[in-house]
Amino acid sequence: MSVLLENKIEYLKGVGPKRAAILNKELGVFTMEDLLHYYPFRYIDKSRIHLVKDVQDDSSYFQLVGTVSRLQSFGSPRATRITAVLTDESGSIELVWFRGLTWVKNRFQPGKKYVIFGKANYFNRQYSFIHPDIDDYNPDDFTLGESQQGVYQSSETMKNNGLGTKNMSRLMKQILAVTAEYIPETLPDWVLAQERLISRKTALVAIHFPANTDQLKHARHRISFEEYFFFQLHVLHRKSIRKQTGAGYVFQQVGFYFNEFYHHYLPFSLTQAQKRVIREIRVDMANGMPMNRLLQGDVGSGKTIVALMLMLLALDNGFQATLMAPTEILAQQHYDSLREMLKEMPVQLALLTGSTRKKQRQQIDESLKDGSLQILIGTHALIEETVVFSKLGLVVIDEQHRFGVAQRARLYEKSALTPHMLVMTATPIPRTLAMTQYGDLDYSQIDELPPGRKPVKTLHFYPSQRLRLIGFMKQQIALGRQIYVVYPIIKESEKLDLIALKEGYEALIRDFPEPQYRICVVHGQLKADDKEFEMQRFIKGQAHIMVATTVIEVGVNIPNASVMVIEHADRFGLSQLHQLRGRVGRGADQSYCILMTDYKLTADGRKRMATMVQTQDGFKIAEADLLLRGPGETQGTRQSGMPEFKLGNLAKDEALIRKVRNTVARMLEEDPQLRSEKHQSTRKNYEKLYKQSFDWSRIG
Ligand code: ADP
Ligand code: MG
Repeated sequence: MSVLLENKIEYLKGVGPKRAAILNKELGVFTMEDLLHYYPFRYIDKSRIHLVKDVQDDSSYFQLVGTVSRLQSFGSPRATRITAVLTDESGSIELVWFRGLTWVKNRFQPGKKYVIFGKANYFNRQYSFIHPDIDDYNPDDFTLGESQQGVYQSSETMKNNGLGTKNMSRLMKQILAVTAEYIPETLPDWVLAQERLISRKTALVAIHFPANTDQLKHARHRISFEEYFFFQLHVLHRKSIRKQTGAGYVFQQVGFYFNEFYHHYLPFSLTQAQKRVIREIRVDMANGMPMNRLLQGDVGSGKTIVALMLMLLALDNGFQATLMAPTEILAQQHYDSLREMLKEMPVQLALLTGSTRKKQRQQIDESLKDGSLQILIGTHALIEETVVFSKLGLVVIDEQHRFGVAQRARLYEKSALTPHMLVMTATPIPRTLAMTQYGDLDYSQIDELPPGRKPVKTLHFYPSQRLRLIGFMKQQIALGRQIYVVYPIIKESEKLDLIALKEGYEALIRDFPEPQYRICVVHGQLKADDKEFEMQRFIKGQAHIMVATTVIEVGVNIPNASVMVIEHADRFGLSQLHQLRGRVGRGADQSYCILMTDYKLTADGRKRMATMVQTQDGFKIAEADLLLRGPGETQGTRQSGMPEFKLGNLAKDEALIRKVRNTVARMLEEDPQLRSEKHQSTRKNYEKLYKQSFDWSRIG
């Protein structure tokens, strides 16, 4: 009888085609079951009537009963505000409206009693209620409400069409009355027992109509557990399909290229973390399955050399390797530094970007096809169809958040078997995201910086400190250092942002006049050649200051630059600020990061500045970012196909997610294809949620 749940909402009493269309459109709700999964966003207490004198708590909710008098309009010719006074035996309190004024005027009759419900608002040392709910009060048929009454979010359109919270609640009641006993369980019994979860049916009733706070707590726990459960099932299932069905190249040899480099040309000794990561990855590339691994290492942790050594391993096994970077400047820099490190070794490498000349390009194409070109470094130009490798074994992608999933997939097509794939990112991934969003990737981490790095001193300055800043910059330049000044450009097309940058540049020229000082400028609207020219002036030490947008965010390495000034720092997200700060502190000198903001800051902006001043730890910063902005906004998570958890909260549920993940892993270990009887309802629910069969023998 669970088909009942799949009935269209049109057939509910009080819905009909028009309201159904609104629910379809606004909430994506089509069936009764969909509607049941639209949960209250908060709960209010209507189980008692308060007295006016009890209203002593700003932002708390109160239910009062009293008479309404002294209706007054303010504003002329048109009223913009109406106030009234509600009086009970203990005192009087003001009610205020800014909207629906005509309705308010006609709502009240002198001497009659009303029940009002609303949030107390403390202003000018007085409490009032703004836009309270109002009902007629009739002692004979008045019943107190629940202590935990669900409130449903509803849009203006919904409210205007009789789909406000009260009616939503009525609909829920109606559906539950007919369907509650048919709500199927989706988690295996052993999971319910082990985790002491309440049944799905009890949870769904309680989330809409909780009897008390305790029951609500259990319902929320059960429902979040289920959300994470099916997502983990999806992620781990995908991972095991990849491991079971994909044959991969086996890199067994450690040979000439790797050894020669390691013993003779390694420019420094590797950190323990670099060694460990190389070991982990070597094992992974030798087990016969295609590697799909994320390598996280904070800015400056030395990911490039790791990539190089793994590419040499590919060569030792007779394969080609490629390294893809998100910008031309970065690709060029990788190319230069790899060529420098390999200059004594017989390795053929080339650079391919959008501006590679045609003739050069032909040469690359040919030597790729005949296999003589061993390492190709480049930008997204690498994924064009004309680029054909003879034997591509390893793909390294730097700064992964710039590449979409689809782009990555196109690289897979360039090889007979799926090549090994290593995605490198400096964005620290909070543990919860590592388990969810990136849950199907393997994960390695360089959690140690090369020796001798000094922490970057970070200061937050307001406009009154600008003179001090200029003096400090001059001092640093006199010491021979270089300085970045970064402006936020949220969208490269944003004219206002560009104007701010240009004005900032002009002001800097006044403060740092030629010929004593030289300033270069880099932003997204420059032509590639000009950008390159300006970058080179800074890289070669010919300019003291580089004014830039976030183009420098990814990866440039200029050890002599020791000061990072970030203008309008509050407009950047935490991860971005952290990346920017990582551009300095790469040499032996003490480095500085100065965050400039206006006096006026949002609470959020203030927290971000404080976090940056207090910590250098990329993980702490990423977790703070997740907490402040939520997973949807966190860098690198946008094109992720991440589900929206309705009750689950990634910023807070680390322990729960870990537990769920372990439980799912255990289930799949015992019953990888969910064939046993006890897992049938789980399997069925999975197939419904993800609209795909669980059985991978049928996927082909
Ligand atoms: P990222 O992880 O940000 O890409 P890079 O690979 O660019 O970092 O390395 C940053 C700098 O640190 C480079 O100048 C690199 O040569 C240097 N480096 C990397 N590993 C070590 C090491 N083990 N010891 C000393 N310096 C290192
Ligand atoms: Mg790098």
